[in-house]
Amino acid sequence: MTGRSGTATTSGGPVPTRSRDGANDHGTMTGGKGRAAVASLRSMGRQPTILWMECGACSGESMAILGAEGRGKPGHTLPAFLEDHGAHLLWHPSLSLESPREAAAIIDRVIAGEQPLTLLCVEGSIIHGPNGTGRFDVFEGRPKRDIVAALCGRAQYVLAMGSCASFGGIPAAPPNPSESTGLQYTNSQPGGLLDPEWRSAGGLPVINLSACPVDATTMIETMSAVLQGGDLGLDRVGRPAMQKPCLSDPGEKRCRTVDKVGYACYGCIGPKFPLPKALFKHRVPAPASA
Ligand code: SF4
Repeated sequence: MTGRSGTATTSGGPVPTRSRDGANDHGTMTGGKGRAAVASLRSMGRQPTILWMECGACSGESMAILGAEGRGKPGHTLPAFLEDHGAHLLWHPSLSLESPREAAAIIDRVIAGEQPLTLLCVEGSIIHGPNGTGRFDVFEGRPKRDIVAALCGRAQYVLAMGSCASFGGIPAAPPNPSESTGLQYTNSQPGGLLDPEWRSAGGLPVINLSACPVDATTMIETMSAVLQGGDLGLDRVGRPAMQKPCLSDPGEKRCRTVDKVGYACYGCIGPKFPLPKALFKHRVPAPASA
């Protein structure tokens, strides 16, 4: 399949696509600067590559980025991103055609350093149970925790997609029977699967896209910004500047949840989510100003 700026591929063949509502929906993040950065990668013989690992997850981020209905601008999907950036999808559990055994071979090539990896996207908490073995969550016989740790050692950049991957999220809530952590945090405490001082080959800590689920636009804009090589404006817990409360309006950071749905925000982009309090407090929205 030929995209506007290159050829999007998966290891198993062409990427399934769907029609998009307007070619200009991507704003500035996928503009000429991004293409220049991708061209730079190509000049080094490097097509950007992406690998998506799903750990202790409900697939919320996968459904969002594959185009399921929800917040996010039209056209902000993983297939469209691949097309725009001429990127190669090594594997995604819900999109790729490879069997788990074939995917394990791709993963082994990455871990062995035979297959370059630009973006490692991790969805879901890192499960260490039972008793620290990681065997509650295995892939082709191996704890995913160990596979993800090895992949982090090879990836140029690592993105935690969602609050579970970022901070542990719902699986890490007390009593945390799965012994879950985030990639580089456990709730608000630095340190999870990776040490607080860990940096990827590209020089960044884990990029935390918290929210439950994080919306497709935040994921796509952040992945694009990483390929552009710009400053992500990471905050003290590794969240990029494009991370916003989920129902805020464009151009503002103010949470609009109570105005739009009548329930107080339950703070799913925060490192302490889920907070130890009732999640859905009904509030009467303030009357709209004239
Ligand atoms: S952060 Fe929320 S949507 Fe994402 S995997 Fe965890 S529970 Fe599911």
